[in-house]
Amino acid sequence: MTLIVGLRYLASSGAFALATRAVRPGLYTGLDAQIRREIAWSLASAAIYGVPAGIVAWGWQNRGWTRIYTDPHAYPLWYLPLSILLYLAAHDTWFYWTHRWMHRPKPFRLAHAVHHASRPPTAWAAMAFHPVEALTGAVVIPLLVFVIPVHVAALGLVLGIMTVMGVTNHMGWEVFPRFMWRGAMGGWLITASHHQRHHAEYRCNYGLYFRFWDRLCGTDRGVGGFDPAPRRARAAGGDAPGERRADD
Ligand SMILES: [Zn+2]
Ligand SMILES: [Zn+2]
Repeated sequence: MTLIVGLRYLASSGAFALATRAVRPGLYTGLDAQIRREIAWSLASAAIYGVPAGIVAWGWQNRGWTRIYTDPHAYPLWYLPLSILLYLAAHDTWFYWTHRWMHRPKPFRLAHAVHHASRPPTAWAAMAFHPVEALTGAVVIPLLVFVIPVHVAALGLVLGIMTVMGVTNHMGWEVFPRFMWRGAMGGWLITASHHQRHHAEYRCNYGLYFRFWDRLCGTDRGVGGFDPAPRRARAAGGDAPGERRADD
């Protein structure tokens, strides 16, 4: 399972990094050392993600664990999209609160600083987490499959959405159509325009898929732009402004 997660990461981040090179040539110029770090942390995270996923997948196949089902008629068909939404909402809730917690000074220094060392993040930063943070992320879906019934294909879709959003949110440009990050629908969804602002300003925009918790808790600062200034600062040998804000 570790191998699958690792290859999934390399394939998805690699594909979007290639797309970035085609659509925004030069966006990652000068970031080679950072990208190498992002890949190393991400592969370590993949190893960690693989362990609970592997145990649960084995238990599902061999011991009948979990509430994953394969007969699409085991539940009403309307439950299929609902189950996907439930998984995304539960994961989002878990992510929002653990993420906010990891912005407290101690856990930030211990773990989350690794993720924010990417300034600005690239498509390779999707799984660039300290092992402690990787562990908090790795247990979510393996625990949820014991609680919320889900068809195996719906679960595959959830994992697909998780992968694509993890990569595109860090890519440095917006791949999705405008209605997904502006207007009535965009007001509730998180794409790169929203998460980029978290990486730029730290103490806001903590969510993963939805802006619900950010808006409810007053931590939503809206979508931001993609400022090429960090690249200019690097070119001039300037220091990135992020670190000093970590504990504020
Ligand atoms: Zn991030
Ligand atoms: Zn953060």
